[in-house]
Amino acid sequence: MTSTVETVSTMAEAARAVAQGATFLAGGTIVMRDVNAGEAAPRIVRTIDPSLNDIRISGDSVVLGAGVTMAQVLANRDLEFLHPAARMIGGPQVRNMGTVGGNLFAPHPYGDFAVALLALGARAVMAGQSGGRPLDDLMRDRSRSPALVAAIECPRPRAGSFGFLKVSRVKPKGVSVLSVAALLPREGGRIRGPRVAWGAMGPGPMRGASAERLLDGQELSAATIDRVVQAAAEGLSPPTDAIATDWYRREVAGVHLKRLLEQMERG
Ligand SMILES: Cc1cc2nc3c(=O)[nH]c(=O)nc-3n(C[C@H](O)[C@H](O)[C@H](O)COP(=O)(O)OP(=O)(O)OC[C@H]3O[C@@H](n4cnc5c(N)ncnc54)[C@H](O)[C@@H]3O)c2cc1C
Repeated sequence: MTSTVETVSTMAEAARAVAQGATFLAGGTIVMRDVNAGEAAPRIVRTIDPSLNDIRISGDSVVLGAGVTMAQVLANRDLEFLHPAARMIGGPQVRNMGTVGGNLFAPHPYGDFAVALLALGARAVMAGQSGGRPLDDLMRDRSRSPALVAAIECPRPRAGSFGFLKVSRVKPKGVSVLSVAALLPREGGRIRGPRVAWGAMGPGPMRGASAERLLDGQELSAATIDRVVQAAAEGLSPPTDAIATDWYRREVAGVHLKRLLEQMERG
């Protein structure tokens, strides 16, 4: 099938086209593969709206335009907490083109950056709408309701409270066996309101509710970590693919969560 690509000036025009069924083209690392395979939608839309590339940092809050690339994240020192995730997206060419917005909609086993954002409690600003939408909701509905993400609002974590780990067979740029991220805010030495997110352990990036339950209110000690690790894979539904079986992913989830939590414990 042939596709036509339209370039529009504003996010509002792009959002209208997406609402009418057009596919949005960001960095194109996934969309262009579909175009080359003759599997893309007949109408593709892109925009030159400069707001898509904005990075705004104020106090403890960060706003990333949906068109910000992984390379731009890596070039910004104020975004250091996101570097471990951005660095793990493909090779240099993919990081130069691949965007924050595109990563939210990338199919399994992709979406490593979205895993980090989900653990951080980020919100998606939808084009033409005010107020952010929790990424948890967007991740749940992403295949059902095509809508254009304009930007991501993300709290900047306190030093030592956030960690990300990706496990792949081919290093440095293989796709995920799994990825996992954790935000562990602490009050008086105890974890309050933890967020754990997994990649490649379900149809898309998802929260690790059982790990969060067992971390909440606890000190990050060896005993806590052991308890959390036992329940790491509860409630997750990993797929089987060319990289790993669902059984294998379940088996190793606890090992890698332990590795991440121990890294964070050491600080
Ligand atoms: C060789 C290779 C290696 C890769 N390795 C990894 C990896 O290690 N980890 C990983 O996570 N990903 C990986 N990817 C997948 C991909 O490159 C990234 O996920 C990237 O961030 C996608 O962004 P993009 O801008 O290129 O998306 P595009 O291809 O432009 O778009 C992807 C999808 O997202 C939709 N979309 C894009 N922007 C928006 C928006 N603002 N609002 C709504 N919908 C939107 C598009 O319509 C499309 O459906 C790899 C890809 C390749 C080709």
